[in-house]
Amino acid sequence: MTARPRPVPDAVSAAYWAGADRGALTVAHCDACGRAHHPPEPACPRCGADGPRPRVVSGRGTVFAACVVRQAFDAAFADAVPYHLALVAPDDAPEVRILTNLLGADPAEPVAVGTPVAVEFEPATGVGARVDARVGEGDGVALPQFRVVGP
Ligand SMILES: [Zn+2]
Repeated sequence: MTARPRPVPDAVSAAYWAGADRGALTVAHCDACGRAHHPPEPACPRCGADGPRPRVVSGRGTVFAACVVRQAFDAAFADAVPYHLALVAPDDAPEVRILTNLLGADPAEPVAVGTPVAVEFEPATGVGARVDARVGEGDGVALPQFRVVGP
């Protein structure tokens, strides 16, 4: 099996990945306009102000849109298909959309818009990862994913 690619934090995304490694989901928040966005950007995509800062959110949200991925476009994910791919709107930052796979959803069944979900973190495997890494042990990269928690 081909090793999966692993996120590589950079100066802009480092706080996001560090939060995930501690088991905290963050979105970027702009103090100038008061709005949030994701993924992190060096400047607010809504008003252009510099320096949006990470803000911890609850990790609960709802499905904004979803589809089923049936073909792996990278050989490293061949064993993962089929799976649900979704845009999630966090409950406490509803203007944000987070692209994610969905855990706990049967790919043979559709997932409805508005389905409640909650974040879970998984140590990133793949190139350069410690094989015994656990979330919170400081390996540096944990993957936020969302699990269906209601109908
Ligand atoms: Zn802004």
